[in-house]
Amino acid sequence: MIGIALVLAFTWIPLLAVAAETQPAIDFSAQEQAYIAQAGTIRMCVDPDWMPFERINEAGQHEGIAADLIQLVAQRVGLKIELHPVKSWQESLDASKAGVCQIMSFLNQTPERDQWLIFTAPIFFDPNVIIAREEHNYIGDLKGLSNETVALPRGTMVEERIRREYPDVMVILTDSEPESVKLVSERKAGMTIRSLIVAAYSIKKEGLFNLKIAGHVPEFTNKLRVGVVKNETVLRGILDKGVQTLTPQDREAISNRHVAIQVQQGFDYRLVWKILAVSAVILLVSLFWISKLRALNRKLERLSTTDRLTGLYNRLKLDEVLESEGMRASRSGHSFSVILIDIDHFKRVNDQHGHQTGDLVLVDLAQLLRTGMRSTDFVGRWGGEEFLVICPHTDSAGACKLAETLRQSIQDHLFPVAEQQSASFGVASSCPGDSASEIVSRADKALYAAKTAGRNCVKVG
Ligand code: GH3
Ligand code: MG
Ligand code: MG
Repeated sequence: MIGIALVLAFTWIPLLAVAAETQPAIDFSAQEQAYIAQAGTIRMCVDPDWMPFERINEAGQHEGIAADLIQLVAQRVGLKIELHPVKSWQESLDASKAGVCQIMSFLNQTPERDQWLIFTAPIFFDPNVIIAREEHNYIGDLKGLSNETVALPRGTMVEERIRREYPDVMVILTDSEPESVKLVSERKAGMTIRSLIVAAYSIKKEGLFNLKIAGHVPEFTNKLRVGVVKNETVLRGILDKGVQTLTPQDREAISNRHVAIQVQQGFDYRLVWKILAVSAVILLVSLFWISKLRALNRKLERLSTTDRLTGLYNRLKLDEVLESEGMRASRSGHSFSVILIDIDHFKRVNDQHGHQTGDLVLVDLAQLLRTGMRSTDFVGRWGGEEFLVICPHTDSAGACKLAETLRQSIQDHLFPVAEQQSASFGVASSCPGDSASEIVSRADKALYAAKTAGRNCVKVG
């Protein structure tokens, strides 16, 4: 994703009035004309810290893309706008709800905001992206974010939608956009979801180069509008007509003033955007395939460690676990145990009811073992009608107790067609200096003892 390596440079050019602006004729109704004539100034609430969209600068002035767009609209409709000074976005929301401001400069429409605002048509469009640290995998879908921590500025459209549509996501609320991005960079949050323009700006300005764009969220494209308090329907109509006069060129010129692309002199900006768009598409397609490939690899790994008939671990995986448990035990000094299980007279099941019934018994018995053991144990098919349970951090007494429970549950179970069956159990625990094959060999001897003792019992090796 970081392949979108085009250098974005952020330049701050003071607001230049749109030179030689020829005002398009707007067809106002008599009611609207009367409103404009006696309106005085319209009080506006803004986000004081949302660059490059908008901010309230040290001189108390509104600046940024939103500021320029709003001024252009106000100028075209013939209204004067006055800024309501605030310290935070939340303060602006509260002031707007309390009716202190007639308009909010630049925000997404959401069901919650619909409760007290009515909106103009979008004044600006901007896609949202997922920002994570460099090492994070590509995120193709927000559904994969459950149990991730996501830093989000409070009271934003993204916060509202994430909480509603993805309740499993753990949200860390922040007071501003840069704070969210910073939390991700400082490993205090897994990711944030922000506007492409704002995120790119914050990353560059704060020098947070351990971050990347880890995915895009097409369903969360910001459609930024002017919000008008509900009782000001005439004002909304007037502003809407002003917004309708904005051309793509107006928007591009204003956004380029604040987020300019550094290119060689005389270079065609549109060509750069086209190249950027094509690279983004190529990149997204490659990322899609990379994630597919990863999923396939995971499936392959699962298949290579799983017994096809029973779905339990196979011999290969059991050998691996034995090896690692052996090493862990010798490091920590804790013992671990194994339980070798062999179905009694299983040949008879095949002989009397056929091989297929034999298979069904194996599947059923595997399920009994899976549900009967503890979450920390490993169970797999050792071969034929033999199974092995590996019990980490368990001594011989603990393993015998588990074996006895499993033996009882097999004895009590009615298997398909073959009905009652039993199994014999050999238990062995690790001794210092034991190899994996030594402990299994002791369990095998104990199993043999269980068979000679009449089967359907547990013996310790
Ligand atoms: P014991 O009580 O001494 O263990 O008697 P047993 O009949 O269970 O033991 P034996 O080793 O004589 O026979 C094991 C049988 O298990 C023979 C073999 O056909 C059967 N078997 C092994 N794997 C499978 C399998 O995947 N499916 C089926 N249906 N049978 C299997
Ligand atoms: Mg056997
Ligand atoms: Mg057997």
